[in-house]
Amino acid sequence: MKHQSSKWLIGLKVAGATAMVFTFSGGAFSLAYWLTYWFYSKHEVDLPEYVLQLVNWGLGVLLLILIFAVVNLLVQPKQRAVWNEMMDALRRMAKGDFNVMVDQDKKYRGQIGDFIQSINDMAHDLKQVELLRQEFISNVSHEIQSPLTSIRGFASTLQREDLSAEEQKHYLSIIEKETTRLSRISDNLLKLTTLESEQQQLDRRRYRLDAQLESIVLACEPQWLEKELELELELEETEIAANEEMLSQVWVNLIHNAIKFTPALGSIRIVLRKVENNIAVTITDTGIGISPEDQLRIFERFYMGDKQRTRTADGSGLGLSIVKKIVELHQGDIQVKSRLLAGSTFEVTLPAE
Ligand code: ADP
Repeated sequence: MKHQSSKWLIGLKVAGATAMVFTFSGGAFSLAYWLTYWFYSKHEVDLPEYVLQLVNWGLGVLLLILIFAVVNLLVQPKQRAVWNEMMDALRRMAKGDFNVMVDQDKKYRGQIGDFIQSINDMAHDLKQVELLRQEFISNVSHEIQSPLTSIRGFASTLQREDLSAEEQKHYLSIIEKETTRLSRISDNLLKLTTLESEQQQLDRRRYRLDAQLESIVLACEPQWLEKELELELELEETEIAANEEMLSQVWVNLIHNAIKFTPALGSIRIVLRKVENNIAVTITDTGIGISPEDQLRIFERFYMGDKQRTRTADGSGLGLSIVKKIVELHQGDIQVKSRLLAGSTFEVTLPAE
């Protein structure tokens, strides 16, 4: 439909241009005829008819050239101005200034209008990328700053001589915990950057997904036993061709979150089943739940849910963005369903082949 209408538009433009050329030519030749007629009536001219016609025609051509030169002179400054504006915009963008908007009043249409639009779109997209970059840097600095402040504070307190051995031990354990947090942040950041930068050649191989889930649940046993959580598994025997190490990271993050955000004596249920051409893994907990607003944002880098409710849980808000990235690299999808105080379900769907 669009193609059809653009054909019409081109046709209309060609017709317009032809009409303009005809009008100008008609005007020029009529003027030439009128001028020569006036000249011959005033002066006695005795020339053969074909010479008179030739003079007529020559004058018409000259007048036509003159008309086009005048039109060109009138139009050119306007075009030069918009080209200058575009060049200026491109120069500013090259220097990193993306607050650019060429032809704000949308005066230009057609090819030049399209070109202007693509410059404006490019500036808009680059501005978004720049904003994300700035936000990322500020988040990283903030996340690194808080454990560092805490380490510095406790290290300086430890220099006091009146501290009991027990107090010293307590402060040292906080320093140790904060250092572990810092190293986890840097580890996660590295993972995320690697995942995002590589146009990942997934090193897939076939393995039993049910066995992988079972062994991760076993490896987390100390954590869920400590909270006396009930773990329920319903795992269909399933083979998958995937990057085993990466998917392991997905299950570890989701299961750790389920344990972390579920109060003692709660339960976690993990189901693996095949649905048509997909493999679905659902991890359901009876934990604190996620508000509808948070559900929209938890997969963003550094996003942590309501601090009031998750204050006890340590984290950096990178876990779920890593999960999402890995799932997407496998052409899969992740969804969350949750109600505050009623628990959450994370469902990962992966293509079976
Ligand atoms: P982190 O756990 O390090 O804070 P994540 O990216 O893994 O970071 O999770 C982001 C946020 O999503 C968490 O801060 C928490 O608010 C919420 N969340 C994730 N999983 C659950 C869950 N099972 N139950 C409740 N909230 C969750």
